[in-house]
Amino acid sequence: MDLGLAGRQAIVCASSKGLGLACAEELAANGVNLIMNARSADVLGASADRLRDTYGVKVTAVATDITSEDGRKEVLAAADGTIDILINNAGGPPPGDFRNWSMDDWNKAVNDNMLTPIELIKAVIDPMIDQGFGRVVNITSGSVKNPIPQLGMSNGARAGLTGFVAGLARQVAKHNVTINNLLPGQFDTDRIASLFASRATAEGRDAADLRAEAEARNPCGRIGYIKEFGQACAYLCSAHSGYVVGQNLLIDGGAFNSSH
Ligand code: NAP
Repeated sequence: MDLGLAGRQAIVCASSKGLGLACAEELAANGVNLIMNARSADVLGASADRLRDTYGVKVTAVATDITSEDGRKEVLAAADGTIDILINNAGGPPPGDFRNWSMDDWNKAVNDNMLTPIELIKAVIDPMIDQGFGRVVNITSGSVKNPIPQLGMSNGARAGLTGFVAGLARQVAKHNVTINNLLPGQFDTDRIASLFASRATAEGRDAADLRAEAEARNPCGRIGYIKEFGQACAYLCSAHSGYVVGQNLLIDGGAFNSSH
């Protein structure tokens, strides 16, 4: 299916690797020009070069911290005219026991995983409305539907973003501007490897065993491939998704069992 995206311009935050990179890659494969972002310039540069060379689209790499005000300004300034697509993403908060979390820890989680995407949406939404096309996809977490006890800061901050987006998405949909959330279960990225490693340390277990158990528990019998995530993102950004509004699409192999 032609997604109708050729020539569009996207900002993909936190996209040098993992889920952000998978989203950037599927957009590039559909002819979208990219502004990619991450903090480490070398990893970001290598990913940007690969997508530019493979798909022949324009790729601008902005090495900066997207959770800072200056970083957001830099990324937005790299755009050439109106931004058609915004993919919000950033690193997730660490796991732990809430008794050990300070106000600074909480403020960082809320800043990174709630307020940063809201600030970026604020910067792009009115030009999207004016041009009658816009797609915003927030990478959140399966923890929004199925909270994970040891990821309390993620559960809390992402719930805040989800609630905000549910209202705004309905206010802008008539302009062919959609905002949706993609909720990853367990996908094969560095983040998931570090979560298995931290659990292994806490429980005195082997990380490989924990991973094998997680795979065995999943109805698909495996961890997700990041390409599957990127393809879902590309659909939500497509010309055909204008009637998909304010949804929380859980991609977890069926791990969360709910009839509604
Ligand atoms: P990952 O493989 O560790 O990749 C994270 C990416 O984000 C890297 O490109 C990293 O590059 C960039 N990044 C992190 N903090 C940034 C910042 N402040 N500014 C700019 N770029 C930043 O992680 P992932 O697994 O793709 O996870 C992405 C998001 O999905 C996270 O919020 C995570 O909690 C959530 N999630 C993931 C899973 C999963 O199974 N993988 C499940 C549920 C939720 P630099 O370090 O160079 O900045």
